[in-house]
Parts: sequence; C-alpha cells; structure tokens
Amino acid sequence: MPSRCEQPGLEEAAQSLAVAIDGPSASGKSTVAKALAQALGIPYCNSGLVYRAITWSLIDKGVPLDSQSAFKTAVRQMNLECRIEGNELRVRVDGREPGEEARSPAVNAAVSRVAACSWLRRRLLPIFRRLAEGGPIVMEGRDIGTAVFPNSRFKFYLDADPRVREQRRQKQGEADSIGERDWEDRSRAAAPLQRAPDAVLIDSTEMTVDEVVGRMLDELRKRGFPLPKDSSIR
Ligand code: C5P
Repeated sequence: MPSRCEQPGLEEAAQSLAVAIDGPSASGKSTVAKALAQALGIPYCNSGLVYRAITWSLIDKGVPLDSQSAFKTAVRQMNLECRIEGNELRVRVDGREPGEEARSPAVNAAVSRVAACSWLRRRLLPIFRRLAEGGPIVMEGRDIGTAVFPNSRFKFYLDADPRVREQRRQKQGEADSIGERDWEDRSRAAAPLQRAPDAVLIDSTEMTVDEVVGRMLDELRKRGFPLPKDSSIR
C-alpha cells in the first residue's frame, strides 16, 4: 500500500504550509524556529534531531560507520519513530529517546558523516514530509527549503558571522567543531547545505531573536501565510 506521501497531490498539499528554515550550525535556527512556531501556534520540528538520534543509536550499538553494509543493515533494523507531540518533534529509536546524548561530542563529531549518506536521506524524506501532513509546521535543518519542501513559498536561510557562531556554541558549553561540520554539510553530494534561490536570507550576526522572528513574521505576512490574529513574539 502506498504511504500517504506516495499518493498524488498529498505531498504538494503538505508542502504548502511548511515554513522552511535552513542555515549552518549555530546560526540561531533552533532558537528562532522554536520562537516562530510558538508565535504562529504551530509545531516546531528540528530535523537535525533525526540525524542525531540515528547517529547516537549507531554509536551506541558499536556499528562501524565506515562500513556501508554494516551501516545500512543497522539502519534497516532500526525502529525509527518520529512524531509531533505537544507541538514538538519527538524521535525514538527502538523505543528510546537520545535525550542529552543527542548532543554528545561523539554524536557531534559523527553526525555529518552519517547525514552525507544519500541512501539514508532518501529514506528520511517521506518521514519529514509526512510530519507536515497534519497542518502547518516550522521545520529547520540544512535542506528543508531545497529538498524536503522545495515547493514551499515560505523559506528562510539564516546565517551569521562564523566567529559569532563559534562563540555561541562555546557559550552553550558544547564540544562541537562547527567549521568542520559546516564544511561536510556544504560539500556533500546529497542535498548539501545551500540557500534555496527563493529563500529570504537573514544575517543574525547583530540581531536579537525577537528581531529575527519579527522579520520572519513580516515576510510570512507578505507571502500570504495565514497568520493567527494574535501572532506575536512571546
Ligand atoms: O541542526 P543540527 O546541528 O542538530 O544538525 C546536525 C547535523 O545533521 C547537521 O550538521 C547535518 O549534518 C545534519 N542535518 C542534515 N540535514 C538536515 C538537518 C540536519 O544533513 N535537514
């Protein structure tokens, strides 16, 4: 039986009210996407969490990431559940959530290598699209405007000065070589990080979160997104 995403028309409908936010690491995507979703009263989905949860599970199981066959076998055997609960994405692998382990140094160091696999990305595409079938959603990642919801009219590309991004990550107290991760994400063949031609570019280097969200709300209004009456920054 075809999944809902394989039925003609449904993919298109799901894309129509998806707000896509892409950008490099520590550009402020998660904070801004969460605040925007809250202002709009719709779910927030951090697609990176799915790649992180898979990477966490592979490391946990001791799967050698340089062996394509071991990697594919382990992913095929995974029970991956991605659900919107309480307006946020919850990801479980074999019934377990990664929790803080999703941002461990080991996961930070390996996740971009895992995410570079085109076979894995093809498997995840319908899962991401299905999340938007329940109604409008804000989804952030690296390829949301280019590959997941290319037909969305509501796309943003968030960037910031590399030094500021590095400082933000250090303040969060995380061991994360964001320069290396960005390079891997930009240079991979499968759905690399890049700005969709129709995405609004926002440089958050000298902007507050409220300013970025305010700018996005203005743009969504202009592009005809159905804003709730009381949409404001909370
Ligand atoms: O957003 P976050 O930093 O948590 O994402 C972790 C990694 O997951 C990224 O560095 C990237 O390699 C991968 N990713 C991706 N495509 C997405 C979201 C994340 O390749 N849409």
